[in-house]
Amino acid sequence: MSAHLALKIGEQAKMAEIRFHNTMSGQTEPFVPLVPGEVRIYTCGPTVYDFAHVGNFRTFVFQDILRRYLKSKGFRVIQVMNLTDVDDRIIQKAAAAGLSIREYTDKYIQAFLDDRRALNLEPPEHIVRATDHIEDMVKLIQRLTEKGFTYTSDGSTYFRIAKFPSYGKLSKIDVAGMQTGARVDMDRYDKDNARDFALWKAPKPGESFWETPIGPGRPGWHIECSAMAMKYLGDTLDIHSGGVDLTFPHHENEIAESEGATGKQFARYWLHAEHLMVDHEKMSKSVGNFATLRELFSHGQKPSSVRFLLASVPYRSQLNFTPESLQGAASSVERLRNFASRLRTEKFPEGSSPAIPERAANAREEFEQGLADDLNTARALAAIFDLVRDINTAISRGEFHQGDVAPVLAAMDSFDAIFAVLKDDDAEKLRALGLGQDSAGPSDAEIDALVAERQGARKRRDFAASDRIRDQLAERGVILEDSRDGQVRWKRK
Ligand SMILES: [Zn+2]
Repeated sequence: MSAHLALKIGEQAKMAEIRFHNTMSGQTEPFVPLVPGEVRIYTCGPTVYDFAHVGNFRTFVFQDILRRYLKSKGFRVIQVMNLTDVDDRIIQKAAAAGLSIREYTDKYIQAFLDDRRALNLEPPEHIVRATDHIEDMVKLIQRLTEKGFTYTSDGSTYFRIAKFPSYGKLSKIDVAGMQTGARVDMDRYDKDNARDFALWKAPKPGESFWETPIGPGRPGWHIECSAMAMKYLGDTLDIHSGGVDLTFPHHENEIAESEGATGKQFARYWLHAEHLMVDHEKMSKSVGNFATLRELFSHGQKPSSVRFLLASVPYRSQLNFTPESLQGAASSVERLRNFASRLRTEKFPEGSSPAIPERAANAREEFEQGLADDLNTARALAAIFDLVRDINTAISRGEFHQGDVAPVLAAMDSFDAIFAVLKDDDAEKLRALGLGQDSAGPSDAEIDALVAERQGARKRRDFAASDRIRDQLAERGVILEDSRDGQVRWKRK
């Protein structure tokens, strides 16, 4: 790439100011972290009483795109994600199964981590369990009590929201005229039900509990996140994110607890991902229309198609999850993989042309601009698909040269640093989940070895052996494509 062009790209990257939509202000704002070069993110993780459904993973994929993007911009990212491993449902289900809370939740935590790997979700720097932080939560409740924010009733401790005048500022809930002292023990409740909420819950007869200085019991859901976020990230975080349904009461209550205790701003940017819809209904366990990743995979869907579909719709738009949209995602991934593999394996005429590197640089710039614009993944993807189309046209016209490969592959690499779908490892991923052993077919290494063997046979002009290997691979779902220059590309059906 010429020095002139490199300079131009540098200037353009600088121009793409990062902007995120902040639920607190209701505005899309320039993103400036508290400490230059570093971004501290808190992510509300799953309640591990069952397998997470694909609607949950929409939020987790969005958070993965967010962290990959920030890293690609040179930020050091410190992300904390909690695992809610104690709540009413967990206590009930563990008791019904005759297991301790720890034993019961271990299984779903492992499944969640496996599912994350299948979707290429980078691990957050800290994944923390609520039950490992009871002491931190108790200390935070004690701080709130010292400042007069709490009261107790029947052994439980409640947060008095009337003592926190800005209560409602995130969800814009109207607390005027609300009955003071009305309280709620449930962790999840409706918006028209703003109430004093439980920080610490006294045990019901027969329930497991922790013996602590504030009495026997267990933490409420909201205090978990406040305590763990501040423990690992300090009093003020850069980004707090989660699904839009967490805005109220969960995030509102986290703010009241954290800011009540510290007197400082809790999170500077609040990013919320929209729902995943199934046939225009919100996907959730309460509606019963949920699918776990494993259900999708065992019905033949690939991890890369699910990741691509969840990533392709900008996070603040609703995404309608249908078999057709999954099919479309699978074709898109295949198109991108075929293109990248063609560039890597095909031999093009020697030389280079100024137009192609410039075209690649423009695509990268448009890709960057899309992501800088509140992670507009649809715009970023359009830039890459336009590039693929134009380069394929250039190749068919003989206007693409060997020297043009590197800049175009570099554009594909910067795309894949965020979207992470180019590596053809779906079969491996399914095997890791214990799925698809029969249909998964041979590994990459096995295919490469057979392809090399076939090349050897062709060199010897042993076409019978060459055809036999081709047929064997076809039977196992691998298609070979011989190009005019004698190279061989392969892909899975
Ligand atoms: Zn939370």
